[in-house]
Amino acid sequence: PGPVLAIEEINEKMSLVKHKILVISGKGGVGKSTFSALLAHNLADEGKQVALLDVDVCGPSIPKMMGLEGEQVHQSGSGWSPVYLEDNLAVMSVGFLLCSPDDAVIWRGPKKNGMIQQFLRDVDWGEVDYLIVDTPPGTSDEHLTVVQYLSASCIDGAVIITTPQEVSLQDVRKEINFCRKVKLQIIGVVENMSGFKCPNCKTESHIFPPTTGGAEQMCSDFGIPLLGKIPLDPAIGKSCDYGKSYLAEVQDSPGVLSYRNITQRI
Ligand code: ADP
Repeated sequence: PGPVLAIEEINEKMSLVKHKILVISGKGGVGKSTFSALLAHNLADEGKQVALLDVDVCGPSIPKMMGLEGEQVHQSGSGWSPVYLEDNLAVMSVGFLLCSPDDAVIWRGPKKNGMIQQFLRDVDWGEVDYLIVDTPPGTSDEHLTVVQYLSASCIDGAVIITTPQEVSLQDVRKEINFCRKVKLQIIGVVENMSGFKCPNCKTESHIFPPTTGGAEQMCSDFGIPLLGKIPLDPAIGKSCDYGKSYLAEVQDSPGVLSYRNITQRI
Protein backbone atom coordinates (compact mmCIF):
# COMPACT_ATOMS: atom_id res chain seq x y z
CA PRO A 1 0.00 0.00 0.00
CA GLY A 2 0.98 3.64 -0.43
CA PRO A 3 2.29 5.64 2.54
CA VAL A 4 -1.10 7.09 3.52
CA LEU A 5 -2.84 3.72 3.57
CA ALA A 6 0.12 2.19 5.43
CA ILE A 7 -0.07 4.88 8.12
CA GLU A 8 -3.81 4.29 8.54
CA GLU A 9 -3.21 0.55 8.95
CA ILE A 10 -0.33 1.15 11.36
CA ASN A 11 -2.46 3.56 13.43
CA GLU A 12 -5.14 0.90 13.71
CA LYS A 13 -2.61 -1.69 14.97
CA MET A 14 -0.99 0.81 17.30
CA SER A 15 -4.32 1.81 18.83
CA LEU A 16 -4.00 -1.48 20.76
CA VAL A 17 -0.59 -0.46 22.18
CA LYS A 18 -0.64 1.77 25.29
CA HIS A 19 3.02 2.86 25.45
CA LYS A 20 5.68 3.03 22.75
CA ILE A 21 9.32 3.46 23.72
CA LEU A 22 12.31 3.73 21.37
CA VAL A 23 15.73 2.67 22.65
CA ILE A 24 18.50 4.57 20.88
CA SER A 25 22.26 5.18 21.15
CA GLY A 26 24.87 7.24 19.35
CA LYS A 27 27.32 4.38 19.05
CA GLY A 28 27.13 0.61 18.73
CA GLY A 29 28.38 -1.64 21.52
CA VAL A 30 27.21 0.59 24.38
CA GLY A 31 24.50 -1.84 25.55
CA LYS A 32 21.38 -0.63 23.69
CA SER A 33 20.05 -4.07 22.76
CA THR A 34 20.92 -5.44 26.19
CA PHE A 35 18.91 -2.58 27.71
CA SER A 36 15.94 -3.24 25.38
CA ALA A 37 15.99 -6.95 26.24
CA LEU A 38 16.24 -6.44 30.00
CA LEU A 39 13.62 -3.67 30.00
CA ALA A 40 11.26 -6.08 28.21
CA HIS A 41 12.01 -8.85 30.76
CA ASN A 42 11.52 -6.52 33.72
CA LEU A 43 8.22 -5.07 32.47
CA ALA A 44 6.96 -8.58 31.70
CA ASP A 45 7.99 -9.69 35.22
CA GLU A 46 5.84 -6.83 36.56
CA GLY A 47 2.89 -8.46 34.77
CA LYS A 48 2.74 -6.06 31.82
CA GLN A 49 1.92 -7.26 28.31
CA VAL A 50 5.14 -6.49 26.43
CA ALA A 51 6.15 -6.44 22.75
CA LEU A 52 9.82 -6.15 21.80
CA LEU A 53 10.50 -5.10 18.21
CA ASP A 54 14.03 -5.22 16.82
CA VAL A 55 14.33 -2.81 13.88
CA ASP A 56 18.10 -3.22 13.64
CA VAL A 57 17.54 -4.85 10.26
CA CYS A 58 21.22 -5.32 9.39
CA GLY A 59 22.46 -6.34 12.84
CA PRO A 60 19.64 -8.02 14.74
CA SER A 61 20.87 -9.26 18.14
CA ILE A 62 17.55 -9.54 19.98
CA PRO A 63 16.81 -13.21 19.01
CA LYS A 64 20.13 -14.30 20.55
CA MET A 65 19.76 -12.09 23.64
CA MET A 66 16.24 -13.37 24.30
CA GLY A 67 17.35 -17.00 23.84
CA LEU A 68 15.12 -17.29 20.75
CA GLU A 69 17.66 -18.09 18.03
CA GLY A 70 16.30 -20.44 15.39
CA GLU A 71 12.66 -19.48 16.06
CA GLN A 72 10.47 -18.69 13.08
CA VAL A 73 7.65 -16.26 12.48
CA HIS A 74 4.31 -17.65 11.35
CA GLN A 75 1.74 -16.09 9.10
CA SER A 76 -1.84 -16.11 10.33
CA GLY A 77 -5.10 -14.60 9.06
CA SER A 78 -4.48 -11.49 11.15
CA GLY A 79 -0.84 -10.95 10.16
CA TRP A 80 2.56 -12.19 11.32
CA SER A 81 2.53 -13.91 14.70
CA PRO A 82 5.48 -12.73 16.80
CA VAL A 83 7.59 -15.23 18.74
CA TYR A 84 6.38 -15.57 22.36
CA LEU A 85 9.01 -15.98 25.08
CA GLU A 86 6.28 -15.86 27.74
CA ASP A 87 2.52 -15.43 27.45
CA ASN A 88 3.05 -11.71 28.05
CA LEU A 89 6.36 -11.19 26.19
CA ALA A 90 6.33 -11.23 22.39
CA VAL A 91 9.36 -10.59 20.17
CA MET A 92 9.79 -9.70 16.50
CA SER A 93 13.06 -9.35 14.61
CA VAL A 94 14.37 -9.71 11.09
CA GLY A 95 16.62 -12.37 12.67
CA PHE A 96 13.58 -14.71 12.70
CA LEU A 97 13.30 -14.40 8.93
CA LEU A 98 16.90 -15.45 8.17
CA CYS A 99 17.87 -19.03 7.35
CA SER A 100 20.97 -18.85 9.57
CA PRO A 101 22.03 -16.37 12.29
CA ASP A 102 25.24 -15.83 10.30
CA ASP A 103 23.36 -14.64 7.20
CA ALA A 104 24.12 -11.02 6.30
CA VAL A 105 21.30 -8.64 5.46
CA ILE A 106 22.68 -6.13 2.97
CA TRP A 107 19.82 -3.84 2.10
CA ARG A 108 19.60 -0.27 1.00
CA GLY A 109 17.36 2.28 2.78
CA PRO A 110 14.06 1.72 0.90
CA LYS A 111 14.10 -2.03 1.44
CA LYS A 112 14.88 -1.60 5.14
CA ASN A 113 12.08 0.94 5.43
CA GLY A 114 9.67 -1.47 3.71
CA MET A 115 10.56 -4.16 6.26
CA ILE A 116 10.00 -1.80 9.18
CA GLN A 117 6.69 -0.68 7.71
CA GLN A 118 5.67 -4.35 7.51
CA PHE A 119 6.73 -4.94 11.11
CA LEU A 120 4.62 -2.02 12.31
CA ARG A 121 1.64 -2.87 10.13
CA ASP A 122 1.54 -6.65 9.92
CA VAL A 123 2.71 -8.03 13.26
CA ASP A 124 -0.25 -9.21 15.27
CA TRP A 125 0.77 -8.19 18.81
CA GLY A 126 -2.78 -7.97 20.12
CA GLU A 127 -3.37 -5.66 23.10
CA VAL A 128 -0.07 -4.51 24.54
CA ASP A 129 1.00 -2.31 27.50
CA TYR A 130 4.50 -1.58 26.18
CA LEU A 131 6.03 -1.74 22.73
CA ILE A 132 9.82 -1.43 23.05
CA VAL A 133 11.62 -0.68 19.79
CA ASP A 134 15.33 -1.54 19.65
CA THR A 135 16.93 0.58 16.92
CA PRO A 136 20.32 0.52 15.18
CA PRO A 137 23.05 2.84 16.51
CA GLY A 138 23.13 6.45 15.31
CA THR A 139 20.38 8.31 13.56
CA SER A 140 19.56 6.62 10.30
CA ASP A 141 16.71 5.78 7.95
CA GLU A 142 15.36 3.26 10.42
CA HIS A 143 14.80 5.93 13.09
CA LEU A 144 13.14 8.31 10.67
CA THR A 145 10.88 5.52 9.40
CA VAL A 146 9.78 4.49 12.89
CA VAL A 147 9.17 8.10 13.96
CA GLN A 148 7.32 8.89 10.72
CA TYR A 149 5.05 5.85 10.97
CA LEU A 150 4.42 6.03 14.70
CA SER A 151 4.13 9.77 15.22
CA ALA A 152 0.39 9.85 14.53
CA SER A 153 -0.19 7.17 17.15
CA CYS A 154 2.00 8.96 19.73
CA ILE A 155 5.39 7.65 20.83
CA ASP A 156 5.98 8.08 24.56
CA GLY A 157 9.61 8.87 23.83
CA ALA A 158 13.17 7.63 23.55
CA VAL A 159 15.58 6.23 26.11
CA ILE A 160 19.18 7.02 25.14
CA ILE A 161 21.96 4.61 26.13
CA THR A 162 25.57 5.75 26.46
CA THR A 163 28.80 4.86 28.21
CA PRO A 164 30.56 7.50 30.36
CA GLN A 165 33.19 8.06 27.64
CA GLU A 166 33.33 11.35 25.80
CA VAL A 167 33.49 9.45 22.49
CA SER A 168 30.03 8.03 23.21
CA LEU A 169 28.61 11.19 24.80
CA GLN A 170 29.62 13.20 21.77
CA ASP A 171 27.32 11.09 19.62
CA VAL A 172 24.56 11.25 22.23
CA ARG A 173 24.45 15.02 21.88
CA LYS A 174 23.66 14.42 18.18
CA GLU A 175 20.92 11.97 19.21
CA ILE A 176 19.43 14.61 21.50
CA ASN A 177 19.41 17.13 18.67
CA PHE A 178 17.85 14.53 16.36
CA CYS A 179 15.07 13.88 18.89
CA ARG A 180 14.42 17.60 19.22
CA LYS A 181 14.29 18.06 15.43
CA VAL A 182 11.78 15.23 14.90
CA LYS A 183 9.86 16.22 18.08
CA LEU A 184 10.55 12.93 19.81
CA GLN A 185 10.28 13.25 23.58
CA ILE A 186 13.41 12.11 25.50
CA ILE A 187 12.38 9.91 28.43
CA GLY A 188 15.94 10.00 29.73
CA VAL A 189 19.53 8.83 29.45
CA VAL A 190 21.05 5.67 30.89
CA GLU A 191 24.79 5.55 31.55
CA ASN A 192 25.85 1.96 30.99
CA MET A 193 29.25 0.37 31.75
CA SER A 194 29.53 2.98 34.47
CA GLY A 195 32.28 1.61 36.72
CA PHE A 196 33.15 -1.91 37.75
CA LYS A 197 33.23 -3.31 41.28
CA CYS A 198 35.67 -6.21 41.55
CA PRO A 199 33.80 -9.17 43.07
CA ASN A 200 37.04 -10.32 44.76
CA CYS A 201 38.64 -7.23 46.30
CA LYS A 202 35.43 -5.04 46.19
CA THR A 203 37.41 -2.09 44.77
CA GLU A 204 35.51 0.07 42.30
CA SER A 205 37.34 0.96 39.06
CA HIS A 206 36.28 3.26 36.26
CA ILE A 207 37.05 1.36 33.06
CA PHE A 208 35.73 4.22 30.90
CA PRO A 209 36.59 7.27 33.01
CA PRO A 210 34.38 10.24 32.14
CA THR A 211 36.56 13.16 31.10
CA THR A 212 33.73 15.67 30.75
CA GLY A 213 31.50 14.80 33.72
CA GLY A 214 29.87 11.78 32.06
CA ALA A 215 26.15 11.45 31.37
CA GLU A 216 25.30 13.33 34.59
CA GLN A 217 26.90 16.56 33.38
CA MET A 218 25.50 16.16 29.87
CA CYS A 219 21.95 15.62 31.18
CA SER A 220 22.18 18.68 33.35
CA ASP A 221 23.54 20.75 30.41
CA PHE A 222 20.64 19.65 28.19
CA GLY A 223 17.97 19.65 30.93
CA ILE A 224 17.03 15.99 30.45
CA PRO A 225 16.64 13.25 33.08
CA LEU A 226 19.39 10.78 33.90
CA LEU A 227 17.43 7.58 34.51
CA GLY A 228 20.35 5.82 36.16
CA LYS A 229 23.77 4.22 35.86
CA ILE A 230 24.46 0.55 35.23
CA PRO A 231 27.87 -0.87 36.20
CA LEU A 232 29.86 -3.27 34.07
CA ASP A 233 28.76 -6.62 35.41
CA PRO A 234 29.76 -10.06 34.10
CA ALA A 235 26.21 -11.25 34.96
CA ILE A 236 24.79 -8.82 32.39
CA GLY A 237 27.26 -9.95 29.75
CA LYS A 238 26.44 -13.60 30.37
CA SER A 239 22.69 -12.98 30.39
CA CYS A 240 23.00 -11.95 26.73
CA ASP A 241 24.41 -15.38 25.93
CA TYR A 242 22.37 -17.55 28.28
CA GLY A 243 18.98 -15.76 28.30
CA LYS A 244 16.19 -15.64 30.84
CA SER A 245 17.01 -18.77 32.87
CA TYR A 246 20.45 -17.36 33.66
CA LEU A 247 18.98 -13.96 34.61
CA ALA A 248 16.83 -15.65 37.24
CA GLU A 249 20.04 -16.92 38.88
CA VAL A 250 21.68 -13.50 39.07
CA GLN A 251 18.75 -11.42 40.35
CA ASP A 252 20.88 -9.74 43.04
CA SER A 253 23.93 -8.83 40.97
CA PRO A 254 24.69 -5.06 40.87
CA GLY A 255 23.95 -4.71 37.14
CA VAL A 256 20.63 -6.56 37.25
CA LEU A 257 19.54 -4.52 40.31
CA SER A 258 20.38 -1.25 38.51
CA TYR A 259 18.28 -2.34 35.53
CA ARG A 260 15.36 -3.04 37.82
CA ASN A 261 15.60 0.42 39.43
CA ILE A 262 15.72 2.09 36.03
CA THR A 263 12.70 0.10 34.78
CA GLN A 264 10.72 1.50 37.70
CA ARG A 265 11.52 5.05 36.53
CA ILE A 266 10.17 4.45 33.00
P1 ADP B 1 24.55 -2.29 21.35
O1 ADP B 1 23.13 -2.76 21.21
O2 ADP B 1 24.63 -0.89 21.86
O3 ADP B 1 25.38 -2.52 20.13
P2 ADP B 1 24.86 -4.59 23.09
O4 ADP B 1 23.62 -4.50 23.93
O5 ADP B 1 24.90 -5.59 21.97
O6 ADP B 1 25.23 -3.15 22.52
O7 ADP B 1 26.07 -4.81 24.10
C1 ADP B 1 27.39 -4.97 23.65
C2 ADP B 1 28.10 -6.00 24.53
O8 ADP B 1 28.30 -5.47 25.83
C3 ADP B 1 27.29 -7.28 24.68
O9 ADP B 1 28.18 -8.35 24.61
C4 ADP B 1 26.71 -7.18 26.10
O10 ADP B 1 26.60 -8.45 26.69
C5 ADP B 1 27.75 -6.36 26.81
N1 ADP B 1 27.19 -5.51 27.87
C6 ADP B 1 26.27 -4.52 27.75
N2 ADP B 1 26.06 -3.91 28.93
C7 ADP B 1 26.85 -4.53 29.84
C8 ADP B 1 27.08 -4.37 31.25
N3 ADP B 1 26.47 -3.43 31.96
N4 ADP B 1 27.97 -5.20 31.84
C9 ADP B 1 28.62 -6.16 31.12
N5 ADP B 1 28.45 -6.37 29.81
C10 ADP B 1 27.58 -5.56 29.17
